[in-house]
Amino acid sequence: MAEIMKAQVFYEAEKMLLEKMPVPRVTETDVLVRVKNVGICGSDISYYYGLSPLGTPTGKGPLVLGHEFTGEIVKVGKVPKQLGLFAQGDRVVVNPVQNCNACYACAAGQTHLCENISVPGVSTNGAFAEYCLSKYTGLFKLPDNVSYAAGAFTEPLACVVYGMKKLDVEPGQFVAIFGPGPMGQMMIQMARSIGAGKIVLIGTRDYRLQIGKKFGADYIFNTSDKQSKYYVKNLKEAISQITSGKLAQRAIVPTSSNEAFQEAIKITGNSSIIVHFGLPNQGDVIRVPALSFHTMDKEIRSSWLAPLSWPTAIRSIAEGLVNVEAMVTHTYPLEEAEKAIINLRNRTDNPMKVQITP
Ligand SMILES: [Zn+2]
Ligand SMILES: [Zn+2]
Repeated sequence: MAEIMKAQVFYEAEKMLLEKMPVPRVTETDVLVRVKNVGICGSDISYYYGLSPLGTPTGKGPLVLGHEFTGEIVKVGKVPKQLGLFAQGDRVVVNPVQNCNACYACAAGQTHLCENISVPGVSTNGAFAEYCLSKYTGLFKLPDNVSYAAGAFTEPLACVVYGMKKLDVEPGQFVAIFGPGPMGQMMIQMARSIGAGKIVLIGTRDYRLQIGKKFGADYIFNTSDKQSKYYVKNLKEAISQITSGKLAQRAIVPTSSNEAFQEAIKITGNSSIIVHFGLPNQGDVIRVPALSFHTMDKEIRSSWLAPLSWPTAIRSIAEGLVNVEAMVTHTYPLEEAEKAIINLRNRTDNPMKVQITP
């Protein structure tokens, strides 16, 4: 096996360099994965542009980014080997939120709030590289009918699964989804598969809204582009009209836009649940009209990461409940990772999901 590998090392805002470095050493509890497909996440864009601190002790680089990935096992540490869990050649997907399985939070099933969490691509070297380490407790075998490209959606889809649990959609309910990015597109399909009634997708770019229509949105509204034929000036009025005045019963907001979240509060009706899903920006404050919110018996919930949601996510891809592969619009080699991030951020060529194949 090779001892040296290529990796994209992030140093500081807008500086990432393709370098040669030693292939990571496998400890007793690790598994080494040869990376096949790795998705670029919104958070990778934030890290690259210096908008969010990394999970390293200093919050800074150097660090290899990339956490949504699949690959083939090339080396198995002593413990997983003894347990017979994994073997060389296994096709796997890595859960990057690697909890310790030993602290109070883990014991309570709050694995995403683990006190000793480590995250490849955020706190330790990740998958914008030829090889990446994973703890043996943090990876799953891919079903035979799930490709490496589709499998790399498991992490974001697991977050969607958790968000949908929080949303608690009942059969036939009217669901509003704010944000037509990959998360929103998966939410449409997941909401549909668990029995939502009408689904409205709200966004600011027509090309993404139109994709949402293909994935099952009944209505698409553009709240920003006045040239758009889907443009609506008053969203509450538009939603009131299509719900006979009842407004939305469920709303989920897979975008960091605080404005979108405020809109979600306005367009939801009696006994509604609103789920905050997109990572807020530092300093954002949610304003809630206390009296009407109270007397309408409404509820706001957060959805953070994806505790105990991975098996459902993998099953949903394997069983075709959510078509993820159709969302890949661009694939770049490892050498062009930086270009891939910049093009995605600038929406060059109307991207949806962008992947890198080291
Ligand atoms: Zn991600
Ligand atoms: Zn823990």
